[in-house]
Amino acid sequence: MFCRLGKRVSRFSGACLMLGPEVVTVTVLKDRQVASYDVVVAGGGPTGLSAALTLSRARRSVLVVDAGRPRNAAAGHVHNYLGREGAPPGELLALGRAEVQSYGGRVVGGTVVSAERTAEGGFRVELADGSRVDAWRLLVTTGLVDELPDVPGVAQRWGRDVLHCPYCHGWEVRDQAIGVLGTGPLSVHQALTFRQWSVDVTLFLHIAPELTADQAEQLSARGIEVVTGPVQALEVNQDRLTGVRLRDGRVFARQAVVVGPRALARAGLLTGLGLQAAEQEIDGHVVGSVVPADAAGATAVPGVWVAGNVADLRAQVLSSAAAGLGVAAAINADLIAQDTLLAVAAQRARRAATGAAAATAVTTGAVFSARSEQDLCDRVLGERRHGLQSELR
Ligand SMILES: Cc1cc2nc3c(=O)[nH]c(=O)nc-3n(C[C@H](O)[C@H](O)[C@H](O)COP(=O)(O)OP(=O)(O)OC[C@H]3O[C@@H](n4cnc5c(N)ncnc54)[C@H](O)[C@@H]3O)c2cc1C
Repeated sequence: MFCRLGKRVSRFSGACLMLGPEVVTVTVLKDRQVASYDVVVAGGGPTGLSAALTLSRARRSVLVVDAGRPRNAAAGHVHNYLGREGAPPGELLALGRAEVQSYGGRVVGGTVVSAERTAEGGFRVELADGSRVDAWRLLVTTGLVDELPDVPGVAQRWGRDVLHCPYCHGWEVRDQAIGVLGTGPLSVHQALTFRQWSVDVTLFLHIAPELTADQAEQLSARGIEVVTGPVQALEVNQDRLTGVRLRDGRVFARQAVVVGPRALARAGLLTGLGLQAAEQEIDGHVVGSVVPADAAGATAVPGVWVAGNVADLRAQVLSSAAAGLGVAAAINADLIAQDTLLAVAAQRARRAATGAAAATAVTTGAVFSARSEQDLCDRVLGERRHGLQSELR
């Protein structure tokens, strides 16, 4: 956080701290009581829980607010998660919640609807039930919404035999009759990709652009059939996908259908802070949106961080968890920097206030003794004093 003079602002008091020869008065004890948590995490999927675990283990107070609807909720299993290959998504998250709680982190059900900056320099988030929580840092890990093609049957079979991700489901549909529903320029790429898992792939052009000569040659060389004409619906029998029906009445037997949803960042809660999702492109084509952030997850608004699918459309469960760890370490470093800044400023303020009398007392060890410095540190930082304590002994 920065004050209008361009100096860092204390997250405790909002005062402008200048670490030059100037000395400012910092009223830390009163304001410290304003915030309930060091970090509030909006979203308790793999990203948010992983971040909360890291922050809890770093002795930060953390609250995770989770609406309980992770992106892969429709899928029966999580694949490509080393060490827990094939685990049900809900099981993995339940383990994560217990791990966070075992280090003192809190996880509650709820939906964060808005966030605003507080006068103290932190954030106040509001939940759908009207309750409010304060924190010095806000981490948003709300994931994304998959906007599915508007074809009857697609939404109903999503995550079961209607798929999008070869690494999540390719193995499960290996050697099956796969259809690719063409909705954009990247559908050709999807068809060529799924060909790795099955020799029986049909591309239904549907609303995708006409093929270029190169694309037609590539598809033909890989033995991928191309069907033109709009798709009307997916055929389902006894809770299984059985085919693709075209508007002209033709039906093609298929066991799985691949779609390319638009992936839209869940960023509505950030609007009040001036942050919005921005369009995201792959190979020059818009495929969805993300909240822009730097490599560590810091957004354009100091103190607000994002990670996982809300910031990276390609993130899988494992890489989302890794992003959670990374952003948590960055947030902790940010808090450590400010804790230190604040401690130095408070120490300078105290020394200046005591004046000449204190300077005399120094020689006797009464004021600036290790003991008195430790007391000051305790008062200023409270539970955040870890790491400074030993240096002052
Ligand atoms: C059908 C399907 C199957 C998949 N299978 C796999 C797979 O096998 N392997 C793999 O690696 N990846 C898979 N993925 C991708 C995987 O789901 C994502 O990579 C992962 O879920 C991203 O994690 P996240 O924490 O960023 O978001 P999410 O897991 O989506 O978690 C976000 C959480 O935030 C909550 N939330 C949203 N808004 C709010 C709010 N305002 N306040 C509070 N909480 C909120 C949501 O309810 C949710 O619980 C699959 C995706 C889909 C669609």
